[in-house]
Amino acid sequence: MKDFHQYLRHEESLDPTDWVGLRQLAHQALDAMFDLHEGIHDDPAWVQPTPEAKAAMTGPIPQQPATAEAVYANFQQNVLPFPKGNIHPRFFAWVQGTGTPMAIISELLAAGTNPNVAIGDHAAMYVDQQVINWMKEMFNFPSNASGILLSGATMANVTGIQVARNSYPGLEVRKKGLQQVEQQLLLYASAETHSCVQKAAEVAGIGEAGIRYVRVGKDYRLDIDHLEELLAADRAAGHLPFCLVGNAGTVNTGAIDPLEDMLRIARREQMWFHVDGAFGALAKLVPEYQTELAAIEAADSLAFDLHKWMYMPYELGCLLVRDAEAHRKAFALQPNYLLSHERGLAAGPDPVTNFGIELSRGFKALKIWMELQYQGLDKFARLIRQNIAQCFYLGELIEAADDLELLTPVTLNIVCYRFHPAGLAADQINAVNKEILMRLHEEGIASPSYTLLEGRYAIRVAHVNHRTRSSDMELLVKETQRIGQDVMNEIK
Ligand SMILES: *Cc1c(COP(=O)(O)O)cnc(C)c1O
Repeated sequence: MKDFHQYLRHEESLDPTDWVGLRQLAHQALDAMFDLHEGIHDDPAWVQPTPEAKAAMTGPIPQQPATAEAVYANFQQNVLPFPKGNIHPRFFAWVQGTGTPMAIISELLAAGTNPNVAIGDHAAMYVDQQVINWMKEMFNFPSNASGILLSGATMANVTGIQVARNSYPGLEVRKKGLQQVEQQLLLYASAETHSCVQKAAEVAGIGEAGIRYVRVGKDYRLDIDHLEELLAADRAAGHLPFCLVGNAGTVNTGAIDPLEDMLRIARREQMWFHVDGAFGALAKLVPEYQTELAAIEAADSLAFDLHKWMYMPYELGCLLVRDAEAHRKAFALQPNYLLSHERGLAAGPDPVTNFGIELSRGFKALKIWMELQYQGLDKFARLIRQNIAQCFYLGELIEAADDLELLTPVTLNIVCYRFHPAGLAADQINAVNKEILMRLHEEGIASPSYTLLEGRYAIRVAHVNHRTRSSDMELLVKETQRIGQDVMNEIK
């Protein structure tokens, strides 16, 4: 027999005994975050973590308590000085958003109220629904469409492709699994498609072999003729094309696939048309991109991020699905412990878990719910257009410079360029540019990232940064040239 009575004599909790002290520390921490954001223009773009800071992350699990002040001091000393830098005005790496001061507040409130936004009759469920409805409105999806907030576009793509597979007529994959399907299920996407679509295909059980990578043209957009060729050959071989994925802004170059043509083909072939619009879909808010991105409105599903071009802090992605019934049928389960009631806390909206894999989920919706009220959607449209304008400007600066080369035409918010002095072999040019990139980082000047375009090392600016000014682009160009010259002098 286990006797636990003795443990009831001194009951405790994780709440502080000293609320005053912790409250003071909380105010100090909040001030530190606002100081950080307010002063970010004067900070270096990146500071390498010191050996001491890294060593501070190698200790054993603490068994005994420390004071709150000591814990905070550890953060101040070993974490705060070495940020990734994506809130900095010259952060342009990968495609990573900046966050906002208002969202600092909403993340605090989300953590403080700490609802599990999976099930139940409580305000957070309605905030979540409201945000999904706003997202539908933003992309002109029908009001009876469905959606789910997820950790990011990866999970949104995984979830969308899962719906495509589960709702394919006649297969009953949820019930029977894929082993019963005789034909090979095939998903089509351009060769420039983000790697998370391959993960999605793997999760969907069709594997890498189930993906047909369609060639891209010189503009990095999917080649429609090649898509038609592949489809014809696969049909002739008795395979089952079930899903076509269109890119609204590829990660490498920002290319927008010919979505209208792809939509037409998907309809003709009775394939699910899914759009990965991780960041690029948001350009639909800008009038100049309405036509190019119009097909998004007719897509069966759309994956996009709010932590990229809606500037929200991590993590926040979204999937919209035109056919709410298909979406629900792809995931809904009703175990005894999750049955909705008519009244009481267990009433309320349809449990969110009926629309995705996850059960427990945080209050992701609050930050975007508060930010959209605070700024208004128009502000976001203006900022997105401002980012695009800054990229076109950067492209012009690069083209005007003798020693720089623009590697792809600027079409959206990605600029790929390199330092290109005369008289160097291809591999030397690549090495020089890699060196330039590392020094841009190490000197704290700016944080672009990199890619390889047909074997050419590109310094890559992916711009979803609301703090950037044109002068930051000018500085990036000047410093690339300066460092490039330094490296050339060292080689000689
Ligand atoms: C970033 C990105 C993804 C993955 O999104 P996460 O939010 O990082 O999971 C998918 N597709 C494209 C085009 C992206 O840029």
